[in-house]
Amino acid sequence: MRFNLLTQILIAFVLAIVAGIVIPGIEVVAPLGDLFLRLIKFIIVPLILSTLVVGVASTGDIGKLGRMGGKTVVYYLVTTAVAVMVGLGFGYLFSPGEGLSIKAGETVEATETDGFVQTLLNIVPTNPIESLVTGNILQIIFFALFIGIAITALGEKAKPVFHFFDAFAEIMYKITGWIMRVAPFGIFGLIAPIVAQYGMDVLMPLMKLILAVAIACIVHAVVVYSITVKTIGKMSPLKFFKGIFPASLVAFSTCSSSGTLPITIKNTKENLGVSENVSSFVLPLGATINMDGTAIYLGVATLFSAQVLGYELTFTQLLMVILTGALASIGTAGVPGAGFIMLTMVLASINLPLEALALVAGVDRILDMFRTSVNVTGDASAAVVVAATEGELNRQELKAS
Ligand code: ASP
Repeated sequence: MRFNLLTQILIAFVLAIVAGIVIPGIEVVAPLGDLFLRLIKFIIVPLILSTLVVGVASTGDIGKLGRMGGKTVVYYLVTTAVAVMVGLGFGYLFSPGEGLSIKAGETVEATETDGFVQTLLNIVPTNPIESLVTGNILQIIFFALFIGIAITALGEKAKPVFHFFDAFAEIMYKITGWIMRVAPFGIFGLIAPIVAQYGMDVLMPLMKLILAVAIACIVHAVVVYSITVKTIGKMSPLKFFKGIFPASLVAFSTCSSSGTLPITIKNTKENLGVSENVSSFVLPLGATINMDGTAIYLGVATLFSAQVLGYELTFTQLLMVILTGALASIGTAGVPGAGFIMLTMVLASINLPLEALALVAGVDRILDMFRTSVNVTGDASAAVVVAATEGELNRQELKAS
């Protein structure tokens, strides 16, 4: 019997959990996970550059591009704001910090971040080749957007460059397909050591925090994305979740939405029927700025920190958390642990001491799994919504992955 990729990935996931619990020394499989991570990372920069150039250039006219960009950004902002509120709601519902208090001395320093203006200025690369070399995703997006727009403006003359990027993007998709074949092994190599490392002893005291984040993430994904995908995208939520599942699971295992991008694009195109045009525009952008899971986490973790310290947040502070939480999630890089750094910013913005961070840090990797999964699923939901409203959604039965 031959299982399809989705089933293989699921089996690997379940086996990894079992192996992590029962096989001593299972950490030796970690290099398998590292190999998988490196394989998907190695195509990210060329993939983002080529797909975005193609995505922008094949839109054909600047007006349509502006409209798509507008829809994408509005969708990202609205779902992110909802996500922080969902996070706060579950933070109150579960009160994960109650009954815990902090041991003295476990202080964590707030992270220095660039000012707002500087952060915006940094999006403009002074040397795009350097951006490619250092993997500065926002700068690469900026570069790609301009190449794409200029190709559109030039028309015939720039066609050879368009064809080059088009073929290059295809090559990247081909490689992604190959990498996905080894995904079950990679996922096993990533998950089993983590299960072994976080035995029940580490998890139990912070179980309420983990549950609050996990349940808030699941509720947000199921409710918000089902509604948007169904009402605006006219797609069955079941089809949506099934189609994006491999990418969600890879996100769960790798804790990196940038790293998962090749698979997100593949799933969205092949399983959900989103056009190349839309997926290659909406998804690279989403992997960089749209982080609903991180926004949820920031909400829950902020309340957790307040509860652990015995603070009651005022209404103004709550509003501040929604605002800084949404902004911080936009600024979060799609790499493991980035949300935790942003948490220091949110806590600092409402003058909460940072001591509780030490507790969160202990289980942050687990929380990262849930939030990254939602980050990626949220991007895919945007792709479906934008594609549907632009008439770029292929509704035929598509091949299962
Ligand atoms: N790991 C997350 C991601 O890549 C970001 C975060 O840490 O919240 O999407």
